[in-house]
Amino acid sequence: MTTTKKRVVIAGGGTAGWMTAAALSKLMGKHLDLVLVESDAIGTVGVGEATIPTLHIFHRLLGLKEQEVMAATNATFKLGIAFENWRDTGKDYLHSFGFLGKDCWACGFQHFWLKGRQLGMVGDIGDYCSEHLAARQGRFAVLPNQDYNHAYHMDASLYAKYLRQLAEQQGIRRVEGKISQVLQHHAPDSELNGHIEALVLENGERIAGDLFIDCTGFKALLIEQTLNTGFEDWSHWLPCDSAIAVQTKSTATPLAYTRSIARESGWQWRIPLQNRTGNGLVFCSKYLSDEAATQLLLDNLDAEPLNPPRVIKFKTGTRRLHWHKNCVAIGLSSGFLEPLESTSIHLIQRSIIRLMQLFPANGIVPADVDEFNQQTKTEIENIRDFIILHYKVTDREDSRFWRYCKQMTIPESLRHRIEMFADGGKVYKHGNELFGESSWIQVMLGQGIMPKQYHPIVDVMEAAELDAFLSNIRSTVKRKVDALPPHADFIRHYCKSN
Ligand code: FAD
Repeated sequence: MTTTKKRVVIAGGGTAGWMTAAALSKLMGKHLDLVLVESDAIGTVGVGEATIPTLHIFHRLLGLKEQEVMAATNATFKLGIAFENWRDTGKDYLHSFGFLGKDCWACGFQHFWLKGRQLGMVGDIGDYCSEHLAARQGRFAVLPNQDYNHAYHMDASLYAKYLRQLAEQQGIRRVEGKISQVLQHHAPDSELNGHIEALVLENGERIAGDLFIDCTGFKALLIEQTLNTGFEDWSHWLPCDSAIAVQTKSTATPLAYTRSIARESGWQWRIPLQNRTGNGLVFCSKYLSDEAATQLLLDNLDAEPLNPPRVIKFKTGTRRLHWHKNCVAIGLSSGFLEPLESTSIHLIQRSIIRLMQLFPANGIVPADVDEFNQQTKTEIENIRDFIILHYKVTDREDSRFWRYCKQMTIPESLRHRIEMFADGGKVYKHGNELFGESSWIQVMLGQGIMPKQYHPIVDVMEAAELDAFLSNIRSTVKRKVDALPPHADFIRHYCKSN
């Protein structure tokens, strides 16, 4: 590292801005002069309350204690997502974070299950997965000898507040104010030409920097409005472009999973926190007006709203470049894949870690920038395919929206995966992809793809042996889960012991 401190300016203080601020100040604070600018008047998007288990990695990096984060954000545990009415009205399934069955060198567990199914000896595939069964039974505990793959439902604004406190303790300077101008270097003969030089606030304050992180949300004030990096529009594959969000008081014990309920022109979320429920409707404005969507959501709440419903507009897709010149986009400024599988906060954390790994300590190296952009692109495209799968593979034909989804063309990469599973139950995971085999299997089966055949290796087992093998896994899972306390009881005890 050079001796002069690099000046890093984070524009925006939503979840993306404060996660970036907390990580950089904790791990690289000694070498950086860090400033975060946010506008109270503009505020944040205020949603983004369901997470996935990779958040543990981020919290470990920051040295955070789980109980403390949960108590500070009114969090509950999340073991997966229930997809209701997605395959067809009245048909539900759960995508849990767990591993299905047992690891086997020869072929995946689904092949054993598929043969067992043919022989009439199996239950739901979720019976062979602890997280799946625990979610359905509303049981959970963090135990020293049993690691349930879990995430959280948490209050987004409390989470940003918690991270802000942490980042400020770690030395970051917060500036409140509206950015009214982004200044660029004009030096045609220099490699700095076009780089961002400074942000100018409405009150005239000028904040100069060496590296700028654009966390300004959908506005993408630096990466797009200033650097014009371009946007790859994916709305032909992910056609929802609007959401209505509203909070209600909790009326029941919190579930240990998110509910995603398919509706005529989109889907509704229910995210249970300790003290309230986050509700929303994601929908496609081509088929449903904001007014009708608001009414649909209000008609399907289980308690009185705590706040007026809010409309949020978005476009699904990705920024063509996530790092351009001396600007890195993190969060909604870098693109958005719609919230179906709660992947945005994960992508924020991945970009933060990637930025730290490729940090331009001694000036910006084009190869590092290319690497950052390539890795980000591959990662997002994989998640995009997984989300499209839910819309494409459906029996629903009851509305123009679902007929469109069923008939739309899909990326070749996804078509290939669907074909492999439909034909021979084969699933693969490339490198660092986020969603592993168990995720693809649960969603493909849940959406209604039943492979034509299982792998012949399974025939090595006689029927009685297969029956014993499957029964053994199922009863072990059941025994483990039956011993867990109710999810709500455990949260109370756990957060109190903080
Ligand atoms: P924002 O929260 O919009 O923050 C932008 C910041 O920039 C604010 O501080 C704002 O004040 C500041 N700013 C903007 N312009 C200026 C300016 N001119 N001057 C100064 N400051 C400025 N993600 C998940 O992981 N799980 C979910 O369940 C989930 N659900 C979602 C549901 C919906 C409907 C949507 C739209 C998103 C959802 N997301 C979810 C995504 C998640 O909300 C975001 O990834 C996360 O909140 C990060 O947002 P952000 O910080 O990039 O943007």
